[in-house]
Amino acid sequence: MTYEHDTENSAACAEDKAFDALLQARRRGAYPLVWLAPHEEGVERVRRRLSATPLGFSVGVATFEQWTADQWELHGDGTRPVDALERSCLLWRVVAAGPWAETGASFKGVVALLAQAVSQGVRAQDFDGVALSASQQGLVDSLARYQAELERRGRCELSWAMRDLAGLMAFRGCVAAVGFDELPWAQSELLRRLGASGEALRIDDGCRAASRPDGGVDRAPELSALLAGLYGRADAPVAPTGAVSFLLPQGSYGLGGPLATRIAALACAEADAAREAGRRPLPVVVCAPDARDLFLRLGPELARRGVASQTRGRASCVAFASTVFGKAWLSLAACADQGARTLATLSDVLRSPLCPMDDGKAMDFDAAWRKRRLRPFDDMVADVASRDGFAATLVSLAMGHDFEGALAALEPRLRSGAFGDAALQGESVAAFAALGRFLAAWRDCGGGDDVAWSLVAQRQVASPLAFSAEEGVAGQGDALFCSLSDAARLAPASACAVVLCDMTAEAYPVRVEETPATLLLERIGVVCDLDPVAQMRRSLFRCLSAASTSVLLERPLFDEDGTETYPCLAFEEIVDCYRPYDALDRTVDRATGLPPAMARFASVVPEAHVHENLLGEDVALTGPGQASSWPVGSPAKVSPEGTSSLVGGTFGSDGAHGGGAVVLSPSAVETYLECPLKWFTLRRLRLKTPDAGFGPMEKGSFAHDVLRHFYERLHKQGVAKVAADDVARAQALMEAVADEELARQPALPPSRNPLVAATAAEEAEVRHLKRQLVGFVPWEAQLLASFVPTHFEYGFGKKTPFSYAGVHLTGSIDRIDVNDKGQAVVIDYKSSVKGTYDVRSRSSAPQAGGAVLPDKVQALMYAQVVWRELGLDVVGALYVGYQPRAGKPPALSGAFDRTAIQPSQVWDARAELVGYPQLDDDGCAAYGASSFAELVDEVERGVEGAVASLCEGRIAPYPRTADACSFCPVQDCAKRRD
Ligand code: SF4
Repeated sequence: MTYEHDTENSAACAEDKAFDALLQARRRGAYPLVWLAPHEEGVERVRRRLSATPLGFSVGVATFEQWTADQWELHGDGTRPVDALERSCLLWRVVAAGPWAETGASFKGVVALLAQAVSQGVRAQDFDGVALSASQQGLVDSLARYQAELERRGRCELSWAMRDLAGLMAFRGCVAAVGFDELPWAQSELLRRLGASGEALRIDDGCRAASRPDGGVDRAPELSALLAGLYGRADAPVAPTGAVSFLLPQGSYGLGGPLATRIAALACAEADAAREAGRRPLPVVVCAPDARDLFLRLGPELARRGVASQTRGRASCVAFASTVFGKAWLSLAACADQGARTLATLSDVLRSPLCPMDDGKAMDFDAAWRKRRLRPFDDMVADVASRDGFAATLVSLAMGHDFEGALAALEPRLRSGAFGDAALQGESVAAFAALGRFLAAWRDCGGGDDVAWSLVAQRQVASPLAFSAEEGVAGQGDALFCSLSDAARLAPASACAVVLCDMTAEAYPVRVEETPATLLLERIGVVCDLDPVAQMRRSLFRCLSAASTSVLLERPLFDEDGTETYPCLAFEEIVDCYRPYDALDRTVDRATGLPPAMARFASVVPEAHVHENLLGEDVALTGPGQASSWPVGSPAKVSPEGTSSLVGGTFGSDGAHGGGAVVLSPSAVETYLECPLKWFTLRRLRLKTPDAGFGPMEKGSFAHDVLRHFYERLHKQGVAKVAADDVARAQALMEAVADEELARQPALPPSRNPLVAATAAEEAEVRHLKRQLVGFVPWEAQLLASFVPTHFEYGFGKKTPFSYAGVHLTGSIDRIDVNDKGQAVVIDYKSSVKGTYDVRSRSSAPQAGGAVLPDKVQALMYAQVVWRELGLDVVGALYVGYQPRAGKPPALSGAFDRTAIQPSQVWDARAELVGYPQLDDDGCAAYGASSFAELVDEVERGVEGAVASLCEGRIAPYPRTADACSFCPVQDCAKRRD
């Protein structure tokens, strides 16, 4: 009746001690004899070892969980332990039914905390009499409800069974738990209680000495010295011989190719050595924080070099939500949730392998739906049904919460190989099976229609990946990709080489993570934090023990942002083994940061060959004619062959492209003058979201329509213009017109930019805009008293070409006011009018051959149209803001002919300043125009220069005005000014 806890220097010593103890216990007649190993790999190894000894048939070997489950079945109270899936589903139900639901806490987070507490083996009654905070008490109350739910169902937790088992089974045998690091509380308790009636031994591996290789392969002397000195006592620093080497890319772009080369070289050298020795080659083990990702990058290149590779352990798993099937399923599931479903979720389903619909049609649906706001989801489903019965059935099943039905409908499709190549197909089948198990557990636990999809989203799905070596390639070898902790489970010297990748402090952080659950458990003395430093050291030691001939350490010197990286603790501790014991001698090689003696075994890799490195290729292997290169033109100028596409549509007599002059609108010209690259991006690439929006464009279109219809209705009533003494009636009319326009918006085609509010906040914005339009009416009465608003949305250049500055100009003028002398003023409505609209705001435009032009030219271009098309004497080109500012009139700017219009005819106090000729003669000299009419002509001449520049394909960025970069989509532009 004993309980002993010892720590031996090595795993082999720990096993030898356990072996002796069990042998003696057998001689004493103790029964049963049990050897507990920390993981499946350990169980297999121990069984192999015992099979050739007298203990082969008398010792049971298992993990803690396996042995407890077996014993609980024999001696337990008849309850059955839940598995991880059932636990999370039941905990979710308990949390959802409890007070957490009202606090807005994340169910997922609370479920994870409770699962952590349960895994340690604690029960609610363990906290009786313990002072707890309100939130801790909440967790304990949830734990109590979970216990009650398990009891009601005749289930239990395995960790609770561990605590109770010893009392139920009257243990008289000997149990040895060998090679565990830090045991959960329930397992420690089980050992202690078994020791009260029988013998219990806990023998840990202190990782201070290397275990001898047992596969007939010797370990390289340098590696043996390294393992001896790493955490044990060594007489001298390790002498570098090249068995440990370093690959130091200057950044992540320097990684792929050189790393693939080194791994392939190690694998092929081992293949040759094994062939000579007549044994099977050992694999190269590649460890990385994200080993699966690294495998996907390097695997194909290794195969090309004759090295087969595969994933192992956690690298063989992928989160359900990251699988192709999982992503698509979660979108389909979102269709069942009225609060979560959007056209994006439906589009994702259509474009996924779940549906047979071709991608082009799915994109068409997506584009059509996105052009409309407030499109009912059912209408979109009806669209789908018109094209694809299977997709519609799938979505309808999901919307009816018949997820099992949807899964059954998908099975034949999955079996038909619709999910892509073999790897994706395998991953999808695994995700499909995991989903089936989850749904069964959810329903079994009484889960309703609101399925907690987040429980399945992060579930790990086993999907091992492998690349075979290409046939006929010299060399041949094997590489295993896995995490550091999985590599630590390998037998000593069972790999030829270990490659430790991304050895930075960021990739391998060492920190204690405290959670509310760990703090709660500490209240009853249960400390469940693993010591992260000790854990890292043990993993490193065991991982290095797996190598027989060499170890390669890879560490990028800089991260993606060019910031210097820090080596991780493991890297530092390995390097320290090579340093002289004289603490004062900290000399390092400048290029590598390593002790000089080691630097000769290090390669610093530049990032120069980005393309090859990212693909995992080695630039040295790229033969003549295979170089991946292509000619790159100047980004500032379109090639001569491309300019016809650049300038866009033309009026050809035959309608053919390039058959006539270039067609441009005044606003396009103005954008080109603001910045050629902005014009190219907005007007040619059309980089804007396809979604119907609720922004300045929609509000502007609405306001323009309202203002136009307001005047048309006024004219129909026989009123030419808003009169100062009739403002109230005009405001009532404006309000009525605005309401009518609002009612029409949802039915407008997408090309008209309908203003449709989808939220309460947007509705408030619409009301505000309407108030502004009504508030604009009194100012209308003060604008251009002797002029009458005559033309609205005057279109030009559409049916009949309008020649201007060497192009065909097309567009529409918001409003033209005319007086009885045949004079006209062009009005362009704006939601806001800034200083750049003022005729005094001018600059020379390199994109117009250096001509000095007003920063805004649109209204002055319209002036020329009115002159030529309507024969009117244009005396003003004004920008009028329709949004009155608090206590001030709406903004007004532009230019008008000072000899024809008095500043008093416009309301803005600054109007005096926009009269032309300008008060300051410098302005006229700069433009080379002594009158308003000459200014209009000069603008046309300047635009001619801009058109010529555009037709030459010049699209270099040049922001001519201070606000040119506002609303420009070229976010990473080097010339951006905001
Ligand atoms: S960010 Fe400015 S300079 Fe660059 S393309 Fe846009 S407008 Fe031109």
